[in-house]
Amino acid sequence: MNTSPPNALTRRLALQAGLCTLPLAAWPLAAQAAGSEVWPQDARVPGGVARLSLGPAARRPKVLSGGLPVRVMGDMIEWTAIVGIALSAAPGLHRVQVDAGEGQRSLEYTVRDKRYQQQQLKVSPKTVDLAPEDLARHERERAHQQQVMALFTAPRSEELRMRVPVPGRRSSSFGLRRVFNGQPRNPHSGMDIAAATGTPVVAPLPGKVVDVGDYFFNGGTVWLDHGAGLLSMYCHLSRIDAKLGDVLATGQAFAAVGATGRVTGPHLHWGVMLNQTMVDPALFVPA
Ligand SMILES: [Zn+2]
Repeated sequence: MNTSPPNALTRRLALQAGLCTLPLAAWPLAAQAAGSEVWPQDARVPGGVARLSLGPAARRPKVLSGGLPVRVMGDMIEWTAIVGIALSAAPGLHRVQVDAGEGQRSLEYTVRDKRYQQQQLKVSPKTVDLAPEDLARHERERAHQQQVMALFTAPRSEELRMRVPVPGRRSSSFGLRRVFNGQPRNPHSGMDIAAATGTPVVAPLPGKVVDVGDYFFNGGTVWLDHGAGLLSMYCHLSRIDAKLGDVLATGQAFAAVGATGRVTGPHLHWGVMLNQTMVDPALFVPA
């Protein structure tokens, strides 16, 4: 049995069927009229989000997942933990630790299996094996970005329905596993949106600019902090108009689409992170 809201199911089936070339106008919109949508959507699969009901409590409970702080939303009548599930999570029982002021308790939830597509590619070894200096650069950049990802600040908005950062065709390649010459790579952990170089990129929610850089793989990159462990990242930018510390309102432009870093053409790579875990951005935006 599947207990997800119908829209999530329809969209997931569409994604699984590889229908990412459908014009957006043809995507199902019925659920928007139903008015029962919550954002992000609950999708207890690897790369998804578990919305866990914590019940009433006088103050905001503290929740940890794998030792990392989790975003908790709501009010004293009903609190909800918004838990990011890693793409590498095994299907089965998972748990978070909840402290609502009366000691710690464990709360379990079940992660269902989800098979993401796999792509086997044969390419020239030169394009797979990094030169030692590039590898060293990438390692440095990764260490730096891990510090950015660990931010856990006060929430900037209780509303988590996101605005799509650029108009354009959204690919369903989140979770796609690429195997180069038999060597598996990390799965694709964001959403690619096709758009021309120069198209403005806007903030999907209120956020603070917490990283601006030019990285080996990701090219021109900006990270936004939306608070309480919710961050978003924008890569391959041709131009960055924001600087570290800028606070952006929803819809405010801060960069432009490009093809910088290791890419084959202009598009926006959009990543969304909860409790230091990349999750599917599609769960935060209406279809
Ligand atoms: Zn991408």
